[in-house]
Amino acid sequence: LVRLRSRLSRSQNTLGKGLLSLLSREHLDEETWEEIEDILLTADVGVTPTQELVERLRQRVKVLGTRTPADLRQLLREELIALIGTDSDRTLHTESHEERPAVVLVVGVNGTGKTTTTGKLARVLVADGRSVVLGAADTFRAAAADQLQTWGERVGARTVRGPEGGDPASVAFDAVKEGISEGADVVLIDTAGRLHTKTGLMDELGKVKRVIEKHGPVDEVLLVLDATTGQNGLVQARVFAEVVDITGIVLTKLDGTAKGGIVVAVQRELGVPVKLVGLGEGADDLAPFEPGAFVDALIG
Ligand code: GDP
Repeated sequence: LVRLRSRLSRSQNTLGKGLLSLLSREHLDEETWEEIEDILLTADVGVTPTQELVERLRQRVKVLGTRTPADLRQLLREELIALIGTDSDRTLHTESHEERPAVVLVVGVNGTGKTTTTGKLARVLVADGRSVVLGAADTFRAAAADQLQTWGERVGARTVRGPEGGDPASVAFDAVKEGISEGADVVLIDTAGRLHTKTGLMDELGKVKRVIEKHGPVDEVLLVLDATTGQNGLVQARVFAEVVDITGIVLTKLDGTAKGGIVVAVQRELGVPVKLVGLGEGADDLAPFEPGAFVDALIG
């Protein structure tokens, strides 16, 4: 929790503390509620969830009567956690199967942090004693495959890659095949994310998924989303969700933005839980997303 708190940007901490200090005002007039609403909207929580949260806070403050700082903190904590949602399954499914590894497909727009996330995830798994094979299915950018391979060498995972400009689906297929023959526990597949032609992306990602499913079902399809892109990121998320069934969201760059409210917005938009968060560029800067710890880090 201390690490999470220090990793979230100062502006994000200010957000949580700002809400708490507004709620703690002696007279909660209309203007104060509007300020609370503004803070939430600025953090990209989204219009409807913001209105719902403010309404609930108003009701509960009214019922509370006397308000001690501890009461208010508790109330805000509960409501923010409820807003994020506690009923989702945020487990990352990476248990291997009898005869084959677990397969995780990592998708998202270029620059959101896909390759970095894949590398960090490999590191977490290897540190946990699991053997990992990486698939560099972004065959359009040699630099992307190089970057993934560098991660692989760093963390101790073999990288399967194909010729530049080759067929991404065939690299993904080979990576899973390699994982099976090596008896690996997990195969992580990094994909390309060029968004300029939606049909091109659809064809490509759909094919990657179909082809690796010849080896068996895919265990996770993780959509990587850059928290700093706000509502724009949501539009992209929708496009990906139309192409493949997303099973979890990785929200990256939470260390560099005050827009942590995007956690709420994207989950509502896609109906899929945030499972991991990126908190920096370093190898250790990937954490499971846990609403309670996140809210505690926010409100201090
Ligand atoms: P890709 O094109 O989606 O594979 O994106 P990359 O993995 O190459 O990441 C793009 C940039 O974002 C790189 O400079 C990464 O170091 C940086 N990055 C990735 N995740 C995070 C994060 O959680 N926090 C910060 N601050 N930077 C990140």
